Amino acid sequence: MAKNNERKCSFCDREEKNVNILFSGLKGNICDECIENAHSLLQEAIDGQQPKKRNSANDLSKHRLYKPREIKEFLDQYVIGQDDAKKVLSVAMYNHYKRLLHPVKADDVEIEKSNILMVGETGTGKTLLAKTIARLLQVPFAIVDATVFTEAGYVGEDVESILSRLLQASDYDVAAAEKGIIFIDEIDKTGRKGDNPSITRDVSGEGVQQAMLKLLEGSDVLVPPQGGRKHPDQKMVKVNTQNILFICGGAFEGIDKMIERRIQTSAIGYNAITSTKNIDRSNILQYVNAQDLRSFGLIPELLGRLPLITYLNPLDKEALRRILTEPKNALIKQYTRLFELEDIKLIVDDDALDYMVAKAVEFKLGGRGLRSICELILTDAMFHLPSEKQGESFHLTAAYARQMLEHGDRFDFIKAA
Ligand code: ADP
Repeated sequence: MAKNNERKCSFCDREEKNVNILFSGLKGNICDECIENAHSLLQEAIDGQQPKKRNSANDLSKHRLYKPREIKEFLDQYVIGQDDAKKVLSVAMYNHYKRLLHPVKADDVEIEKSNILMVGETGTGKTLLAKTIARLLQVPFAIVDATVFTEAGYVGEDVESILSRLLQASDYDVAAAEKGIIFIDEIDKTGRKGDNPSITRDVSGEGVQQAMLKLLEGSDVLVPPQGGRKHPDQKMVKVNTQNILFICGGAFEGIDKMIERRIQTSAIGYNAITSTKNIDRSNILQYVNAQDLRSFGLIPELLGRLPLITYLNPLDKEALRRILTEPKNALIKQYTRLFELEDIKLIVDDDALDYMVAKAVEFKLGGRGLRSICELILTDAMFHLPSEKQGESFHLTAAYARQMLEHGDRFDFIKAA
């Protein structure tokens, strides 16, 4: 049979030769594994139980390996712009999975893990990127905030509890957790502030970075399953972090000055003018490198374990506007659906969108600001309309948006509209 005529499972896209049994229907095929998955999902739905984590370590090899371009295409559906970060992440994920699927044999070349560091202003999509990728790959995923961790012996959470979150996300399936993804947010907050190291020990800074090293590089770590501080009576779970992918993110406020300073100094020389002239100063973060992060306060050992550094662009008006309407689960699509469930058609004027974007720029919260702006504008309508306007439409004009945002509760205004 010609290769392109090979029968495939219509659900997981695997070819017949890669499955045990392939059943054919009138318009499609299904493999034994998809039947089993569907059966367990059905059982869960019937029992009303939590869905089981299907991608445990053992069945990882049976899952499709997404190519970098496919990963990026998936990300494009949910995240606007940020092409560089998407490319870096897609390649890193692809390589990570290749590494997992081809365990090292003796005297083989060992592919090292590529943890990633993303630098970008708050609300530009760092968490969203990490979350979206975990969704595609169906692996346990946990988000942790670096600011809550302290060095062992101090008040706060032990660094090991980062892994507790992953264990919780995988329903305590250790094998699944050992192949998961952890997003460590606000990694910049562990940087030493300024160039003046204190003589007293810093509780949340470098000590935490030191403690993180052993998690990031891959070793057996004893984890308190419930998180928090280690407790002498608590039973510990051993988790190996060798195949856990760490994605770190931070805003690194003020790093732009360090980048600029570095570029200026390294550009001294006979071609200095030409090399600094081409610099895009509107987005200096794109030039970030390990040296700048070191000047910011990340210790070299930690940087050594975060070999991939990428950046996110600040969101301009055009990007913010696209975020409102374009992604698969764009905010306006979500509200439209919410209104639809009440049998109300939501109509949003272009200039209402422009107004929301202008406010998001003013509040300087990036994409995150858009959600609160939408809530402030639409809460009143969502409160009153279900009892008043079934089967009708609701027209969101710029004037209404302004009225809601700047003057609070104005339901009379809707009635008049
Ligand atoms: P951070 O960079 O601080 O981690 P988030 O990823 O948490 O930012 O973004 C906050 C919210 O803003 C997201 O949930 C999403 O709704 C929106 N958002 C931010 N950036 C983007 C983007 N590039 N594309 C689509 N939505 C975005």
